[in-house]
Amino acid sequence: MTHKNAWNTYSAEDLKKLEKLSADYIAFLNSGKTERECAEIIVAMAKEHGYKDLAGVIAKGESLAKGDKVYAVNMDKMVMLLNIGDDIIGDGMNIIGSHIDSPRLDIKQNPLYESEDLAFLDTHYYGGLKKYQYVTIPLALHGVVVKPDGTKIKISIGEKDDEPVFIISDLLVHLAGEQMKKPLAEAVTGENLDILVGCKPLKGKEKEAVRAAVLKTLKDEYGIEEEDFVSAELEAVPAGKAREAGFDRSLIVGYGHDDRSCAFPALMALMEVSDPKTTSCGLFVDKEEIGSFGATSMGSRFFEYMLREVLDRLGVYSELNLGRCLRNSRMLSSDVSSAYDPLYSDRFDKKNASVLGHGLAIHKFTGARGKHGANDANAEYLGQIRQILDKHGVVYQTSELGKIDAGGGGTIAKVLAQYGMQVVDCGVALLSMHAPWETLCKADLYEAMKGYRAFLIEA
Ligand code: MN
Ligand code: MN
Repeated sequence: MTHKNAWNTYSAEDLKKLEKLSADYIAFLNSGKTERECAEIIVAMAKEHGYKDLAGVIAKGESLAKGDKVYAVNMDKMVMLLNIGDDIIGDGMNIIGSHIDSPRLDIKQNPLYESEDLAFLDTHYYGGLKKYQYVTIPLALHGVVVKPDGTKIKISIGEKDDEPVFIISDLLVHLAGEQMKKPLAEAVTGENLDILVGCKPLKGKEKEAVRAAVLKTLKDEYGIEEEDFVSAELEAVPAGKAREAGFDRSLIVGYGHDDRSCAFPALMALMEVSDPKTTSCGLFVDKEEIGSFGATSMGSRFFEYMLREVLDRLGVYSELNLGRCLRNSRMLSSDVSSAYDPLYSDRFDKKNASVLGHGLAIHKFTGARGKHGANDANAEYLGQIRQILDKHGVVYQTSELGKIDAGGGGTIAKVLAQYGMQVVDCGVALLSMHAPWETLCKADLYEAMKGYRAFLIEA
């Protein structure tokens, strides 16, 4: 079985739409570098398209009906969009779920120290990453600092041309004889991922004068005291913009393709299909990269609780109806897959790997060591999905996360599958997944959007 190269299927009109989607996606990546920033953009776009705040609907005691669109935000990091169709109980929902958190370095709660007239911020890495990839690249700081009185200071430093960036040093090659003999996993340690933030001492100060100068800058420019790090969430992410790559501009290099390259086409599809027959639901969740634990993750009950509220506002709430609605639903777990990399060909079973440019990548299962921990999608559901994709001329391929026992991974698929609904993983294939700069092919982004749209119309 061979798969099509999506590029060979495009008309001039397709190419125009593909380039528009790609440009919009690059803009999305550049303004959404954290889960909080992405959540904000998603809510703003939903509002523009007529979605109203579910919290407001509840507070005012308003009722909901077919055709209504609502959004719910959980702690500024997780968003649920719901576009109500004909029969939410009997038909269930067409759910597209993706995550908006990405691997990065989080600033510790007591991070600032000085050593030999250099000031550093200590970090704790978030998600699965190759630590050596985070040294000697420009980093930007994004996040929030919350004062004891509740004041929230938003931070974004290192993205604009006139802003400073931050850097983690690496041992010079001249002295790295020992380091170079170590396995990659040990050559750069987590505790050594400390960010250099200054070397200019505060005048008149004798001890730890550089540290004092950094604190003065934080206070003068941002209103932040040292103690405020305790109630801060600051993320160090690769500084700089996503951009086109290749002589033919067919690729996009960016930070956070996992999983914003699925979240964005999902959002576009949800905005485009404004009057679905079946209720559509978009889930944009946090904490996937650390196992879907925590209040803002897919593993929390937020989604279920918001659905209860919606059924209540529709006047059909009961435990029986909630269960029916959930188990009658279908879900696309929209997450990225590992594209076949010719430079590391021995890590893949070529005929079962997704290939850049060959369209939406469908993962029947993920997991590791004999599919352990996977949602293994039903053949019947895959049959339905194939029919939908074929009807809408979506180019798709199948994918496995590398060859057997090469490694593995999971997604939010298994969380939703617990409700007894049909779930399958499908998304965009990436090169260098979880690297500071990941690579995707524009055609796969476009086919993902087409596939998600077809699912919302037909499923
Ligand atoms: Mn992912
Ligand atoms: Mn990931």
